[in-house]
Amino acid sequence: MISVSEPNTVQQSPNNAAASPLAPEWLTLPEDVNALHSPMWAEGVRRNDDGELTVDGVPVSELKAQFGTPLFVMSEGDFRARARSFKDAFDAAFEDICGGVDVYYAGKSFLCTAVASWVAEEGLRLDTCSGGELAVAARAGIDGANLGLHGNNKSDAEINRALDMKLGRIVVDSLDELERVAKIASVRGETAKVMLRLTPGVHAHTHEFIATAHEDQKFGLSMAGDTTESAGLSAAEEAVAAATSYSNVELLGLHCHIGSQIFEPDGFALAAVKLLGFLAAMQTKYSIVLPELDLGGGYGIAYTPVDTPRPPAEIAQAMAAVVRSKCAELGITSPRISIEPGRAIVGTSTFTLYEVGTLKTVRVDAPVAAPVDAGGNQNVTFPRRYVSVDGGMSDNARPVLYDADYSAILASRTSDAAPQLSRVVGKHCESGDIVVRDVYLPEDVAAGDLLAVPGTGAYCWALSSNYNYLARPGVVAVRNGSARLIVRGETEEDLLNRDMGVANV
Ligand SMILES: *Cc1c(COP(=O)(O)O)cnc(C)c1O
Repeated sequence: MISVSEPNTVQQSPNNAAASPLAPEWLTLPEDVNALHSPMWAEGVRRNDDGELTVDGVPVSELKAQFGTPLFVMSEGDFRARARSFKDAFDAAFEDICGGVDVYYAGKSFLCTAVASWVAEEGLRLDTCSGGELAVAARAGIDGANLGLHGNNKSDAEINRALDMKLGRIVVDSLDELERVAKIASVRGETAKVMLRLTPGVHAHTHEFIATAHEDQKFGLSMAGDTTESAGLSAAEEAVAAATSYSNVELLGLHCHIGSQIFEPDGFALAAVKLLGFLAAMQTKYSIVLPELDLGGGYGIAYTPVDTPRPPAEIAQAMAAVVRSKCAELGITSPRISIEPGRAIVGTSTFTLYEVGTLKTVRVDAPVAAPVDAGGNQNVTFPRRYVSVDGGMSDNARPVLYDADYSAILASRTSDAAPQLSRVVGKHCESGDIVVRDVYLPEDVAAGDLLAVPGTGAYCWALSSNYNYLARPGVVAVRNGSARLIVRGETEEDLLNRDMGVANV
């Protein structure tokens, strides 16, 4: 994504700062480096009269004083509002098609007992993908009927736990697992409620989707016709046939999940069309009814000013239109639809608060257009400022894992200084330890300032590590002008807790 070969159009900002040719093309010089681009921020986040960032009226300096940094700061109201907006928008769009939609919050994006309880209070269900996530759900008192269990390699213990908790659905990922679930249920003399995860050959990427006939990935049962030993049958159909034959398995329906951070509804729509066609064919061929269809998660959010997520209502209506017409074409009653948003509910609810430490500026070569009589293009160096913060890849692994882009602002104050192309980096022993690859921050950012990185609610705390023996940050929820810890940060004692000590060597 970084473009150093193409010079950017030089823009003039009010204070005459120029865009850096080192910046990627999508990153424009901000009109006002202090402004909050609202799609990236939680409801209730604004600057107060002193210019300090506040959440529901609580200033970041207070959060820093009380809880330290780095810190995940979540707006409870924002989380709840996004959860409700998915539920309401999809219910409204699908009301006349299948009586509404079951929305499963994807717990893997961020889960703790407080969040699980908010999910339940807002009328959503919860998706889990491990015994540990089931343990959180149990601790939060979530009814097993409102839980789903995913995973391509569920252990027997996890399957037993799901049956202990009387889970509403186990999403079976393979023929092998289907047989194990059936066997375990049979030994227990119980019936397992099962959905089959299919791979429809639709892969959504942020701005487009690709369709492939064959699947070469660990998840799911392929819908392609010639992928199994039994000639002609797809793995998906073999699983339907097997599930139908097991007396201890109740086959609820089909599931797919086509990707993540998707903005356009086309990919979801194509997957829905493929699964409905398959569902109708299976119902006829095996004389069964498959009452449920889960279209997965993956709805995108704004990490930077160029990300343009659609409101849930727009996606819901586009998907509903496709489900309605496909069911009519197939002459079937629509199955009950469910979806599994994770990032789109929790991602924007949270920002990470960091304290700035070491600063340095390097000069980097970039070709710039020069007058022909001066010899055409020539290399000139431009400054890039490295702004080190007190966390890094241990609290946000997404830039390292996925080259993910983020944004950042100076949170403890406003500044009139010129914007300077900056790179926010962590404190780990890795040069790839980048939090925000490219962002314009005021030139006068200094040690002790607080920075806020928005959109860190999903897959940041969840993926956090203790690399370099850093303590994982806590998570605070702010509501009605007060902040409370929902997950406390680790202490040095926590870090040493599992070390068995010299005496045991
Ligand atoms: C990860 C995942 C989700 C949630 O994805 P988001 O991008 O967070 O919405 C939903 N369903 C399944 C099966 C997943 O693996």
